[in-house]
Parts: sequence; C-alpha cells; structure tokens
Amino acid sequence: MSRFWNPEIAALSPYVPGEQPKIAGLVKLNANELPWGPSPEALKAMRVACGDELRLYPDPDSSELRQAFAAQVGLAESQVFLGNGSDEVLAHAFKALLRADAPVLFPDITYSFYPVYSRFFGLTHETVPLDENFAINLSDYQRANGGIIFPNPNAPTGIGLPLAPIEELLLANTDTVVIVDEAYIDFGGSSATALISRFPNLLVIQTLSKSRGLAGLRVGAAFGQQELIEGLTRVKNSFNSYPLGRLSEAGAAAALRDEAWFEGSCRRLIANRDQLQAELLQLGFRVLPSQTNFLFATHPQQPARALQAQLRDKGILVRHFEQPRIAEFLRITIGTAEQCQQLVAALREIF
Ligand code: PMP
Repeated sequence: MSRFWNPEIAALSPYVPGEQPKIAGLVKLNANELPWGPSPEALKAMRVACGDELRLYPDPDSSELRQAFAAQVGLAESQVFLGNGSDEVLAHAFKALLRADAPVLFPDITYSFYPVYSRFFGLTHETVPLDENFAINLSDYQRANGGIIFPNPNAPTGIGLPLAPIEELLLANTDTVVIVDEAYIDFGGSSATALISRFPNLLVIQTLSKSRGLAGLRVGAAFGQQELIEGLTRVKNSFNSYPLGRLSEAGAAAALRDEAWFEGSCRRLIANRDQLQAELLQLGFRVLPSQTNFLFATHPQQPARALQAQLRDKGILVRHFEQPRIAEFLRITIGTAEQCQQLVAALREIF
C-alpha cells in the first residue's frame, strides 16, 4: 500500500500465476506448458524476422497472422482477433462484451482469472457449481446474466463438454455474449468455432501457449462474428494498438502452418497422458477424465498440500489450489515420458 496509489489499486486481488522458479533441473509440471519446444518452422521464422525490420512497428492489424488463424479454423480474417496471450484477449472480451446490469456467470471451479477480471472491470458475477462429478452443467446457466464464460475443457478439472449442450445454451441465451475459452481444446475437445456462423453472440478464445508450445511468445486469439471482433478491436485500440510484436507474428504464423509438427506433438502428449493416468490409478489416485495437457487427481490417503510439498522437495513442481471442493486435488501437467516416470517414481518413494 502506498499513498501514491490510486485508491482502487489497493482493493485489487490480482491473479497468481503458476510458479516460474529460477532453479535449474526442476521437473516443471505446474503451469500446463508443453514439455518440448515448439515447431522448428516457428523458430526459423522468428530468426528470419530478427533483423533490421525490428526498428519498424509491427502491423497493428496483424493481418498475416489473422489470415493464418482464419485458414486454420475455416473463418474469415474479419472474424479473428489477436492479443498478447489469451489472457489479454480475455481482458478485452470482459471489457468489450460483458455487461454490468446482471451478474456474469462462470463455474465455481474454473480458471481463476475470471473473478479477477470481473472485479477489475467493475462487473458483478455469480458462480455456478460444477455437478457432483466436477462437470459443467450448462442447463444451470439459463438465467438472467451479463454474459457467460467457461473454459472447454474446463480448468483445472480437465473435463470437456461436447458441442450439443453448448448449442442448447446458445439457443436459449440469445441476448448476452457466451465466451468459450478453448485454451486446451487441441488435446481432445470439440471446438465451438463450428457454431460461430449460426450464433452472433458466441466468442471462442484459443491460445498458442499450450498445444503449440509457445507460452513464452504470448499469442492468443478470439473467433466470432465480425460485430464482436469489431468491439474487441475498439478496446484494443484504446489500450495498446500493437499487442503482438514482429517476432510473435512471424513465429505464430509459421507455427500454425506446421500441421505435421502439431499433430505429432498432440498425439505424443495424449499418449503420455494416458500412460500417466494409468500409473496414477495404480497408485490409488482418483483421476478426473482429462481432455487437456494435465490431470486433476486426488488420493484418498495422501493430503494434497503435503504431497505437493514432498514432491517439491524432490524437485517436482505440481499445482495445488487451496480452494473449497478441490483442496485435496493436485493439477499435474503432462510432461515428457521421462518426466512422468520421474513423478511416478517420486510418488512411489513418498508412499
Ligand atoms: N484460459 C485458461 C483456461 C488457462 O488455463 C490459461 C492459462 N493460464 C489461459 C486462458 C491463458 O493462457 P495464455 O494467456 O498463455 O494464452
């Protein structure tokens, strides 16, 4: 607290990201990053972009990259919006598209940035409980709202929804915006981008941070009908008209074009997930069904918080949320096969 702060700043409760320790050799399974590097084509494109042209501002419309995303999801360039990570895209979506005249709705257990943005942008929100199996039940969202947002698949549970209930929600909820945050969609989910042509109030948000292995580049995207994209662009241009630098644009566009790398990487990640899930089940964990690059697991005899600390002592980081309903769970990012084996070996030792 400082007397020089705007008084509103003291009242903020900022988001706390997963730890990024500076210690070498840690097995880092705590921030849902990909355990291997991005497409070599992306790295090559960034090296090429790393030249004298960096003296010039980037394209404020990021046209090349918007076209690459548009081609990827089968939409027009005018239906794509970009930001510095999907966190920034989410921020602009909260500002541009959610309303303060009724509570914004999101799950009680979900991405913990949503309540932060809700308060930051002067909105009110109500949380809707996940069902007894930790799944989102979208029929519980059919009530007055200032907008609806949920991740699909949800985080930190990892559980995905099929498109049918999303479509049902959109048919019932026509006056406010529905945002589907698809940060983890490429690890087994069905993308709601397929519904965009039919629903003017649907915004779908994706990121290159997870399945493309580019969390360090900071590139996120939103897809929706042009009217929504124009609203987001008005907010962007009132905040920072150059959210993506030249290196990001070049690297992200090349990453999107490298389909072969992408498919191989997702396949490998999912194989490691299946293997780790089987091993955790064998150790007595309950593991929620995951369509993401992480597992959400609880052990009936081992308190989660202590387990997290014991793993940390062995150089393995996983994430724990001190939160009602999920305080006994750990969120474990899928690593390389070797990292997963290290985790299993460490758990065996602890047990
Ligand atoms: N949405 C969800 C559900 C997430 O888990 C994350 C990662 N913390 C993000 C959005 C933001 O990812 P990024 O800003 O790296 O695109």
